[in-house]
Amino acid sequence: MSKVQIPFNRPPVQGREMAYLEEVLTGRHLSGDGPFTKRCHQWFHENLGVKKSLLTHSCTAALEMGALLADLEPGDEVIMPSFTFVSTANAVVLRGAVPVFIDIRPDTLNIDEKLIEAAITPKTKAIFVVHYAGVGCEMDAIMEIANRRGLIVVEDAAQAMLAKYKGRELGTIGHLGALSFHETKNIVSGEGGVLLINDTRFSDRAEIIREKGTNRSQFFRGQVDKYTWVDVGSSFLPSELNAAVLFAQLENARAITDARLSIWNRYHAEFEALEKQGSASRPKVVSHCQHNGHIYYLIARNLDERTALISHLKARGVSAVFHYVPLHSAPAGRKYGRTSGSLAQTDRISDTLVRMPLWWGMNEEQIGLVVDTVYDFYRSRA
Ligand SMILES: *Cc1c(COP(=O)(O)O)cnc(C)c1O
Repeated sequence: MSKVQIPFNRPPVQGREMAYLEEVLTGRHLSGDGPFTKRCHQWFHENLGVKKSLLTHSCTAALEMGALLADLEPGDEVIMPSFTFVSTANAVVLRGAVPVFIDIRPDTLNIDEKLIEAAITPKTKAIFVVHYAGVGCEMDAIMEIANRRGLIVVEDAAQAMLAKYKGRELGTIGHLGALSFHETKNIVSGEGGVLLINDTRFSDRAEIIREKGTNRSQFFRGQVDKYTWVDVGSSFLPSELNAAVLFAQLENARAITDARLSIWNRYHAEFEALEKQGSASRPKVVSHCQHNGHIYYLIARNLDERTALISHLKARGVSAVFHYVPLHSAPAGRKYGRTSGSLAQTDRISDTLVRMPLWWGMNEEQIGLVVDTVYDFYRSRA
């Protein structure tokens, strides 16, 4: 087996991360909600136009806060795609609620908004949407259904930092949104996330839930004279060490995103001929969505061909990977959730999608090697 020449991911570190970490370590504030957390909150306000943001230790934590704020109770139902990461569903299951999995669109691989109404029952309380690869779900249609049926929309925007839908930042359109800064995402702090609060009726309770169910934030602002346990909650906030790394990344967020987009665009141009010859298909570009170059994928013709492609690349030092095992057929998904309608697109995409290496700093030669190796695979099968 040859050694990895081109890893699937490499976290971008290229700014003031080290300097800011030193500032935290030589200062006196290591726990959460210090100066760097405040600077991050300010950045989200100024750059995403979000009303209120709260840093969390992961996107998973932000989704769990979303489930608490949506007041999910045992037996309540939440509509979501099956083609997503486990955290979308776990947040709901931890409240005793039931994920109701519906199919995705074959073009964007996002929740098929046309299937939502049919999945609504008297128990439905929320819709958790996922912007796969930083391409927006059909938010206008989704918000229209939610508002008409009195449902809460939580955007799992883990992959969607700085991506837009009709000019609006993803994560800021639903009632609540959650971004991830895990090292596999575009902008990273090791582990990290943020809850975006777009409907301000959730603001006060969100602060309390994040601070172990106490009114600590109001106390520090002098709004209450005692700091006490007032609601359920947990410790959802990150330390200043993570916030310092995140702030250094935020300062370079546009440059990192632009660099990823140019790699994405090169792949897209290079693989046009592959799609024309019918070997594999490329991501669909949706004109009203501005993505962020989070994932470049190809859709192979079938599972066997995808498996062979991944092995061919691996044997030549290129690390390409598949993505989600559908939640509706996973052991916990069968135990805690249910499906609505056919999940045929989800099953097909899950069997055939392969993600190409894509990271900040990847050079033209490396991209060229990935492209050549993919073409080489299809030539060998012709
Ligand atoms: C990465 C990811 C998450 C989890 O993010 P963490 O910050 O690692 O908790 C949740 N949902 C989706 C769609 C993701 O891609």
